[in-house]
Amino acid sequence: MIYNVASLLTGNLGDSQQHEIENESLKTNGHSLKKINGSVSLMRTDRTVLVNAEIEATTHDSCSRCLEPATVNIFVNMEEEFSPANADLVDGPNNRTDDDYYDEALVIDEQNFLDLTESLGQALLSALPIAPLCKEDCLGICPTCTVNRNIIRCSCAKSSVDPRWAGLANLTGKGAESAD
Ligand SMILES: [Zn+2]
Ligand SMILES: [Zn+2]
Repeated sequence: MIYNVASLLTGNLGDSQQHEIENESLKTNGHSLKKINGSVSLMRTDRTVLVNAEIEATTHDSCSRCLEPATVNIFVNMEEEFSPANADLVDGPNNRTDDDYYDEALVIDEQNFLDLTESLGQALLSALPIAPLCKEDCLGICPTCTVNRNIIRCSCAKSSVDPRWAGLANLTGKGAESAD
């Protein structure tokens, strides 16, 4: 996921390159991202290279309902602008000052290599689902007897009352008593 963009930087505004990512993997923030696939388009703007990538990947997490391992599919459509360290390759003066926002992950290095790895890793991580599931219809853990209901069909499910409604029932009961 490292691209030489020297020809883009010395070329014309609007020049572009297309790349495919096939079955790559990377580790970021303790997450192992695998089966990274998709297409990357690099386009020269006036001072930067605009990256547009449609990427899918998978990672492993715990199912939020049954806590068993879950394979999580992620999809991102990322758009980032990379600025060249060799500012003299692009038109116009380099107006970057120390005060400007400067993200190391979005710099094209002195050798004109654009490394997508870090920013793509960040984009994929931010697309991780908050509540991953091992499967869409995971039945989760029984709150009464704690069995994994995907494996064991316990008999608690039908008789158990949702604790929120049980609390409400108590309140109404007490209310009725004090009114007497
Ligand atoms: Zn599950
Ligand atoms: Zn049960």
